Amino acid sequence: MTDLDFFLFPCLKDNYGCLVHDPKSGQTVSIDAPEAAPILAALNEKGWTLSHVFITHHHADHTAGIGALKAETGCKVVGPTAEAQRIEGLDKTVAEGDALSFAGHDVVVLDTPGHTLGHISYWFKDAATAFVGDTLFAMGCGRVFEGTNPMMWQSLQKLKQLPAETTLYCGHEYTLANAAFALTIEPNNQVLQDRALEVKRLREAGQPTVPTTLAIEIETNPFLRETSTDIRKQLAMTYASDVDVFSEIRERKNKA
Ligand code: ZN
Ligand code: FE
Repeated sequence: MTDLDFFLFPCLKDNYGCLVHDPKSGQTVSIDAPEAAPILAALNEKGWTLSHVFITHHHADHTAGIGALKAETGCKVVGPTAEAQRIEGLDKTVAEGDALSFAGHDVVVLDTPGHTLGHISYWFKDAATAFVGDTLFAMGCGRVFEGTNPMMWQSLQKLKQLPAETTLYCGHEYTLANAAFALTIEPNNQVLQDRALEVKRLREAGQPTVPTTLAIEIETNPFLRETSTDIRKQLAMTYASDVDVFSEIRERKNKA
């Protein structure tokens, strides 16, 4: 484990910004840049100086703040190689297999396409923390805008291989709606029922439901549970392939 500090805060309507700070070097990275003002306010509140921005994908609600943050702080912006043409202001591009570090901490880049074709996730390995953008949400997964359902399934399989204790930060607060949908797929999952109540309580108190952990997602997120016998029975897909069960769940969520 490391001494990195994490600070989560809301942006726009339902996005999250998150700062990662290394006290030893004084460096701070913003994961995505939904809008500059709340990120600058968060930096100010913590007394941190922005050195980097790590971008997960090209959508405006993850990139719109880049220009103002660079002008204000001179930060260096890292983003996905496959979306370099679609993101203004990148100083460095990365893809899976490329070396990336932040203040001496290794950051593993994972290609997690599906929501967009070039979407990447950032795994701060020694802090057991991953930023998964709009690929995986608490009890949900991103809409498949540019890729295919099998591509999104592969990306989630990759995230599922991370250590179970990994803390996961995602791009949006969608958890209440995700929990309601998850219960339609797996009504008898006791852990899911309990979590849905907890999430309702947190949201009523104005609290975030992010971050989550991979362990709790594996127990409650229908998009990571396509192998469940109960879910397959519920969908009348007992003998279907894993990817077909996943696709059916994704299609149902699209219509929910
Ligand atoms: Zn997005
Ligand atoms: Fe988004």
